[in-house]
Amino acid sequence: MKRMMMLLVLAVPFVVGGAKMKLPKKAPKHIVMVGFDGMSAQGVRESDGMPFYKSMMRRGAYTLKRRSVLPSSSACNWASLYMAAGPEQHGYNKWNSRKPDFPSDTLTEHGFFPDIYYLIKKAYPEAKIGHFYEWSGIHYVVDTLCVSRDMQFNHKDEKSMQAVLDYIVKEQPMMTSIIFDCPDHPGHDTGWMSSEYMEALTEMDGVLKRIYEAVERAGMADETLFVLTADHGGKDKGHGGISMEEMETCLVFCGKGVRPGTVITETSNVTDVPATLAHMLGLQRPHAWIGRPLPSVVGRKK
Ligand SMILES: [Zn+2]
Repeated sequence: MKRMMMLLVLAVPFVVGGAKMKLPKKAPKHIVMVGFDGMSAQGVRESDGMPFYKSMMRRGAYTLKRRSVLPSSSACNWASLYMAAGPEQHGYNKWNSRKPDFPSDTLTEHGFFPDIYYLIKKAYPEAKIGHFYEWSGIHYVVDTLCVSRDMQFNHKDEKSMQAVLDYIVKEQPMMTSIIFDCPDHPGHDTGWMSSEYMEALTEMDGVLKRIYEAVERAGMADETLFVLTADHGGKDKGHGGISMEEMETCLVFCGKGVRPGTVITETSNVTDVPATLAHMLGLQRPHAWIGRPLPSVVGRKK
């Protein structure tokens, strides 16, 4: 009971109200975030087998210099991609953290660091949120109490991949995250930038096209914002260190609300992704968030 009271008190500063908000006029009605574990900026830059991904870069806003939080490992960076804060704040500090390694500095009434799903659900209680991931570790870095459909999938299993696409078409969710455990695996097996790694980038390009086509099929394309992201890059057969090959990844915003042909020139970090999404959806960002909306994407103040 005492703990419950404490959680409630802690929750007060950033509760948006629970009331139904009206989506800002220019806001995307749908967000589809596609994540590729271990896709380095170097890999995207040097690949000649990613025509669809690169067309989305041109049609949207992108940077090849977006940085990871440290360590340049998986769970801590995926946590930051949802929580707009670093390990120092949310406490996920290892590659496979399933709970904070030290206490999060802020908790919602769910006993969880406030993430983008929580903000969406508080402001838009009717919102559907689909959370799909290949690596089970991603299940633990989001507030699953706010998720409408939580599913581990495998893109190599057609039935499983199709279930993800069908969810988008049938449910037309406000936010969908589809996080692939690729090209991280070939990176660890044969090395980042190896021919197997580069082939995996091409394979992912084909899967991305299928996701885009599902959104088109659903009749949502004009109202959808796509976010293409990674958690970290890699070097030799690993990551977690401080080389730019490990820390720099590509970030793309493409679709509703984004001016085509934009290069994001300001500094950017994984923490800025949820902050940018929250801004576009008209959501008030909790003080605990250190990520900021990217001016190149949301428009600069005159
Ligand atoms: Zn990773």
